Amino acid sequence: MERTLDRTPVPLPGTLRQLFAVLEGAGYEVWVVGGAVRDHLLGRPVHDYDLTTDAPPEAIAALFPDAIGTGRQFLSMRVPVGEDRYELTTYRTEQSYGDHRHPGAVRPVAHIGEDLCRRDFTIGAICYHPLRGYYDPLDGMSDLRSGRVRAVGEAACRFEEDALRILRGIRLASELGFVIERATAAAMAAKAGLLPSLSGERMLYELDRILRGAHPGALDALLERGALAFLGIEGRGPLAPLGTLPPDPIPRWTALFAGMPQPRAALARASAALRMPGALTGGVAASLDAMAGLEGERTDRNLKRMMGRYGPARVADGIRAGGACGRLSPAEAEDLSLRMQGILQRGEPYCRGMLAVNGRDLIRLGYRGKAVGETLDRLLARVIDCPAYNEYNKILADLMQDARMGLQNGR
Ligand code: ATP
Ligand code: MG
Repeated sequence: MERTLDRTPVPLPGTLRQLFAVLEGAGYEVWVVGGAVRDHLLGRPVHDYDLTTDAPPEAIAALFPDAIGTGRQFLSMRVPVGEDRYELTTYRTEQSYGDHRHPGAVRPVAHIGEDLCRRDFTIGAICYHPLRGYYDPLDGMSDLRSGRVRAVGEAACRFEEDALRILRGIRLASELGFVIERATAAAMAAKAGLLPSLSGERMLYELDRILRGAHPGALDALLERGALAFLGIEGRGPLAPLGTLPPDPIPRWTALFAGMPQPRAALARASAALRMPGALTGGVAASLDAMAGLEGERTDRNLKRMMGRYGPARVADGIRAGGACGRLSPAEAEDLSLRMQGILQRGEPYCRGMLAVNGRDLIRLGYRGKAVGETLDRLLARVIDCPAYNEYNKILADLMQDARMGLQNGR
């Protein structure tokens, strides 16, 4: 399917116009490049502006004293203008990538055309200037029209230079729903063995965007080759169904691991290798455990227990993930999530904090030590089965009866 591109001017925020005025007023040339141009042409919202210029970093620093070098050797500057910040890179080429990650030598070049050739994919190498319009010597627009991710130049060399590009290309395919052009896909497969040379953080950033994209099946080709086994990510079926889940990290990552033979072991390995933030690892672990807990017993009682232990959000993610990877049938997943919604709507208690009595009430009645927690758990088990029992007076009357019988110390 050919897409129609929106070739109207790329809307530029006022602060970006100021930046253009300052740099071009000083005799330099600036272009918008990368995601902003690509997304505007596709009619998608523009979220950040990457800029490229012939101004050297020293000149940028002189014109914008607040600019911060983000690796001077890479000729990149972060330039704050008013409330906004722009990434500005000086036209450059890159040579000799010894470690498949970092350019060994970066050399400034005079012409934008040369700079575009070092970029990874044609659809990110289209530029836009507010007066000159679009400049697209690599014909990225034809790839945009036909929905193709194509490497700039010899794909295998480009992935050899920087293996992160393999994941960046898959990320574009997942987010945009593009296919990866044949030679580019073949080179990705051929060079996938270089992925372990990348840092965990950079891989995590790209993998997260791939999983949260509308078409996470873009990762299938690498998964099928076992190319992510070094991260513990292996042995699962196609990822396309993940596209139906909310595009948030926890449900998507949960569904990735849920479809593996040993989800928790795989999560532990990936979490260490990718240096996943604790909140993500913890959220995925809880959702996986909630899903596993529901597989054996799908009663309301067990559902409430899981809600109490992991929280309704993690249970919802576990149910969705289980449905998306076939651990739960679509009917089972639908039934569980409807029942959970019902429990929440009716306000039925499922955790200690929802009991009509609390620890202080028990202490006032003379309960001490372990008996406080154990009694709360016993009460919770009862109100889980019988929500109507959750009334202060009813519970208190029973507890006072117990107290008269000397049961407060749990003995
Ligand atoms: P998004 O902003 O949605 O992440 P983007 O294409 O703008 O997508 P950025 O990471 O912002 O991606 O990079 C901006 C541009 O810089 C890219 O479009 C590409 O032209 C170039 N670029 C970034 N990283 C690389 C890389 N590893 N190799 C080659 N070119 C790159
Ligand atoms: Mg960008």
